[in-house]
Amino acid sequence: MDSNNTTSVENEEKFYTDAIHYWSSIPATIDGMLGGFGFISQTDIRDSKLLLKQLFNSKAPPGKDHALDCGAGIGRITKYLLTDFFHKVDLVEQNPNFLNQAKQYLGPKLQDKIGNYYSSGLQCFEPEESKYDVIWSQWVLGHLTDSDLVEFLKSCQNGLKPNGVIIIKENVSSSDVDKDEQDSSVTRPLDLYHRIFTKAGLDCYRQVKQRNFPKGLYTVYMFILKPQTALSEVTIENV
Ligand code: SAH
Repeated sequence: MDSNNTTSVENEEKFYTDAIHYWSSIPATIDGMLGGFGFISQTDIRDSKLLLKQLFNSKAPPGKDHALDCGAGIGRITKYLLTDFFHKVDLVEQNPNFLNQAKQYLGPKLQDKIGNYYSSGLQCFEPEESKYDVIWSQWVLGHLTDSDLVEFLKSCQNGLKPNGVIIIKENVSSSDVDKDEQDSSVTRPLDLYHRIFTKAGLDCYRQVKQRNFPKGLYTVYMFILKPQTALSEVTIENV
């Protein structure tokens, strides 16, 4: 990125391998996925459901055929959110242990709704062309460098069906990029996210703050992104 507030990663390879090592030490549980804050899962899912309901009530909603859960972990979001709305859900996740656990965690009841399990880092993953109505990425994009995030978002655009959207739900810092050496991730401020979206050719169609998380956590935003050419209306909200 070409402005001061960017994610400068000195050693890109180390940035990615450190994250792999970190996640390999984390239990394949909800608490593990949420850094010890497993108790916020329901609150998180509640606002995500509301966002999707509103999206499906909007003027040119996406279809309900196929969603992709990016950085899916053990499939928490697939299980409690995406399979409620979509006929099929694919998962992409870097840690093979989490992906294996997802197969059990999602259980036989949801089996018909699960499509592919892709074992891959998002920095090397390209969704198939025109396959998805919604591509959901949550609490994972801080593990990508800015330039890899731009490339990932561009390839996600390619993976969208007509009226398809990319939804991002991430921690947002108040002004600077915060680096976390422990899990090898960054937390970006809003302006950097917006510059990245623009660079990837995306318009932010809605921006909504998660409510009712405990004090002391980062502010969490949900962004609905559409390819620039498909933009019909803009509403940016700060609830
Ligand atoms: N999105 C899930 C899991 C969040 S935990 C949820 O909200 O429940 C973060 C997940 O991102 C972990 O499963 C971790 O293995 C995965 N991850 C970390 N770096 C990644 C990368 N570069 N590509 C894909 N997944 C990654």
